[in-house]
Amino acid sequence: MEDLLRCVQGDITSMEVDAIVNAANNSLLGGGGVDGAIHQAAGPGLLAACRLLGGCPTGEARLTDGYLLPARYVIHTVGPVWQGGGEGEPELLAACYRNSLELAVSHGVASIAFPAISCGVYGYPLEAACILAVGELRAWLSGRPHGLREVRLVAFDARALGAYRRAIEA
Ligand code: ADP
Repeated sequence: MEDLLRCVQGDITSMEVDAIVNAANNSLLGGGGVDGAIHQAAGPGLLAACRLLGGCPTGEARLTDGYLLPARYVIHTVGPVWQGGGEGEPELLAACYRNSLELAVSHGVASIAFPAISCGVYGYPLEAACILAVGELRAWLSGRPHGLREVRLVAFDARALGAYRRAIEA
């Protein structure tokens, strides 16, 4: 199981996996950060598909095609805005990981890449988010049959890579 979960540093838009996860906002109509980069790389077809979805509640996930991306699918999930930790943020972030995996597996995805959901503009503390992500992914992967061969945690910078490494090795 441990071989399944790995961390890498890079740009998620170039990853050759079955699905990449987008840290989207409730509108699903694009934004900055990783969301902007994914829409830029996928082309206008992605925005058109997102419009049809009509938004997504925090903690849930929605699936579209990947359009011009190497990835076949984009799974859009909406992380919580960090408000100090007492507003259900950890549970909502955990739900993002679980719901993204469930949607991926229901579409036959064998490889998936996650960005550090909520760790940019949404302000979730990086170390805590990485520990939560690794714990949640491990628990989910060991709890059921799934068909996944790789779950990749994508760090955009060296700081995030360090946080993922510590979380995985802990
Ligand atoms: P959120 O609004 O959920 O906080 P952001 O896009 O602001 O989402 O940031 C989420 C994480 O994605 C941050 O750690 C940021 O450094 C990272 N990120 C930004 N662009 C990319 C990219 N092209 N590939 C992978 N990660 C990225």
